Amino acid sequence: MSTELYPTTLPSTNRSMWPVSGSGGEVDLRQEFEELLYGSTTEVAKGRPGILRRMRKDTGGNLVVCPCVDEKTNEPDRDSFCQYCWGEGYLWDEEEVVYYKMLVSSHEGLVRKRVPMKAGVSNVPFTFFYLESYVLPEPQDKIVEITLAQDGGTTVPFYRNGVYRISTAEDFRSDNGRIEYWRIATTKETIRSTWWQR
Ligand SMILES: [Zn+2]
Repeated sequence: MSTELYPTTLPSTNRSMWPVSGSGGEVDLRQEFEELLYGSTTEVAKGRPGILRRMRKDTGGNLVVCPCVDEKTNEPDRDSFCQYCWGEGYLWDEEEVVYYKMLVSSHEGLVRKRVPMKAGVSNVPFTFFYLESYVLPEPQDKIVEITLAQDGGTTVPFYRNGVYRISTAEDFRSDNGRIEYWRIATTKETIRSTWWQR
């Protein structure tokens, strides 16, 4: 039977308006996101390896200050390479992550629209990173971009080429409130010296 162009009655369906459980045909966002990052039989992997720099915190939740920080100026040692904090001024640990990166600068770039800005304000590129549900990133942590080999793999040793400061870390929840993925909003840090690219 062909579909009527102008049906006079609604098609009957047994589907409940407010189903209490998934029908099986529902999209599993966590799985979809994993397939976006790592690929599947029908999808090419689009994730990119990088580093999450987690800032260490004390029991009070405060960042742990590096011994190189000057007591008077409160500034880390930027004249020589500090092997503990690499110029951050705070101690941290790094771990490898796979993310999906999206530049969302609202000014030039994707939108191609010039916006007049106040004096002294620069056009800071704003970047989203999407991370897997288990990562649990926090504001104050940083994403460190690494240079990849031509085939997309990582190099040994890592060559760090950019640091992104996290401003917000948003967990996207769906099925029964579970975290499906993270979207973190970041701004790129200005390169302060040459030795941090290690
Ligand atoms: Zn230090």
